[in-house]
Amino acid sequence: MNSEQAECGNLSRLLGQMGKDLDEYLRFDHPDAMANSSRWKAALGGALPQHGVGAEQVVSEMGSYLIPNGSVIPKPGCTSFITTGATSIGALTVLAGAVAAPQRFGLTAFNYLEEISLEWMAELFGLRRTMKGVYSSGGSVANLIALGAARQAAYVKLGIDVARDGAHRPSRIYASEESHHSIHRAAAVLGLGRSSVIAVGVDDDGRMCPVALKACLRKDIKNGLLPVAIVATVGNTNTGAIDPLRELGEIARQYKVWFHVDGAYGLPGILDPEVKHLYDGLSLADSVIVDPHKWLGAPVGIGVTYVRDRSLLQNAFSQGPASYLEGAFIHGGIANSMDSFGIPYNEFGVELSAPSRGAVVWALIKEVGGEGIRSRVCRHNMMAKTLAQKVREHPRLELVLAPTLSICCFRYVGSNSGDVNNLNRRIHEVLVKNGVNVPSTTLVGDRLVIRPCFIGARTEERQVDGLFREVVSIGDRLSSAKNCTEVNGENRYGQEI
Ligand SMILES: *Cc1c(COP(=O)(O)O)cnc(C)c1O
Repeated sequence: MNSEQAECGNLSRLLGQMGKDLDEYLRFDHPDAMANSSRWKAALGGALPQHGVGAEQVVSEMGSYLIPNGSVIPKPGCTSFITTGATSIGALTVLAGAVAAPQRFGLTAFNYLEEISLEWMAELFGLRRTMKGVYSSGGSVANLIALGAARQAAYVKLGIDVARDGAHRPSRIYASEESHHSIHRAAAVLGLGRSSVIAVGVDDDGRMCPVALKACLRKDIKNGLLPVAIVATVGNTNTGAIDPLRELGEIARQYKVWFHVDGAYGLPGILDPEVKHLYDGLSLADSVIVDPHKWLGAPVGIGVTYVRDRSLLQNAFSQGPASYLEGAFIHGGIANSMDSFGIPYNEFGVELSAPSRGAVVWALIKEVGGEGIRSRVCRHNMMAKTLAQKVREHPRLELVLAPTLSICCFRYVGSNSGDVNNLNRRIHEVLVKNGVNVPSTTLVGDRLVIRPCFIGARTEERQVDGLFREVVSIGDRLSSAKNCTEVNGENRYGQEI
């Protein structure tokens, strides 16, 4: 311990205690955090402490007030949004990196695993060998990085280095109505403007319509607008639909526009032989993203961008040399792990300091193997299909969209013809209150549906049955209750992340 009293070791003891508290959390016996928020707010808040209590006491307070009042996300029955609790090996490897390799750069074993894990994932998900990756904090930043490369490439054709000189031309990014809103934010950050993102129409299954895309492109090119990227989504956030990659990719080729594939959620779906054919055309992509913190069960904070040429990223995001950075250690020959940054990932995105994320993905893959990940993906997709079948066979439920991946959109219709949207909103409210099976809701057309996304490593077949039964029983109860009162207001659970 140093003079400021910060414990800088003693991990086996502190981790022993925290491990017990975390295992206890994972029994999910505690009430939801909102049930006793005034108690833990009082215990954790209060005045700024001028004198420290020491690490052991902090760990003890975390065990009493912090950890037990965490999130429902790791629960087996939590199927909201597209978000998962970390598996143990993922959480442990984050800790290992935090202690032993605080930065991804340097010629360390951690740095080595940045590239190894990127290569393993590329191979696993069927990307072309030439695709090279870079980690970032998640799908939103991964999309930003990919579209940064797209913008660079579009302006290179005009003889302009847009990263240096800025974006001057009115531009267009084509993404479907169902694309993720991080595409719009990326367009804003890149100086193209949110309004440069054109919402291309979709078919009844939520897949981008190639004919509509072509019509937009023709019109815009005629009007002198600069097409920057066509964005296809494999596994959209709302329903899990997969855009027709081959057709869209061929249009991109024909018009010489960058083809970006957002696979934040759904890229691992390629491992399922039942849907693999829907990924035909992935090889046409100029960039692809995936979120290991979704289907791979990594702790949140890990996204990946793959591009066909990382030097484009370097042109788009280079930060220029700094004399205190790379080279500062070199005094003739490489002898120390700090003599070089290794592959300059810091030049391929928007982060300089960044944790070792590759080691986490390496550990996740090493633990269960490619086949383990495949069986998780297949199991989750099968769960959505099983639920869909149960819904089809039930007289008071309606399957609103057949699942493509692991999302199932259905609703309780009952036998009356009242306000079905409102009924399902109220069913969802009770589900959330009960806290066992916690799906999202969303809108498919104008129909409000219950929307589980099966993606957590802890989520098993019995959660399908549990959710199905609970929706039926709540629906039956609410629709037979006499004085059904309307529930007004926004549904705050309806939005996806
Ligand atoms: C989740 C998701 C994102 C955003 O990823 P974050 O990791 O939450 O930033 C982007 N695109 C799609 C299709 C997603 O499902």
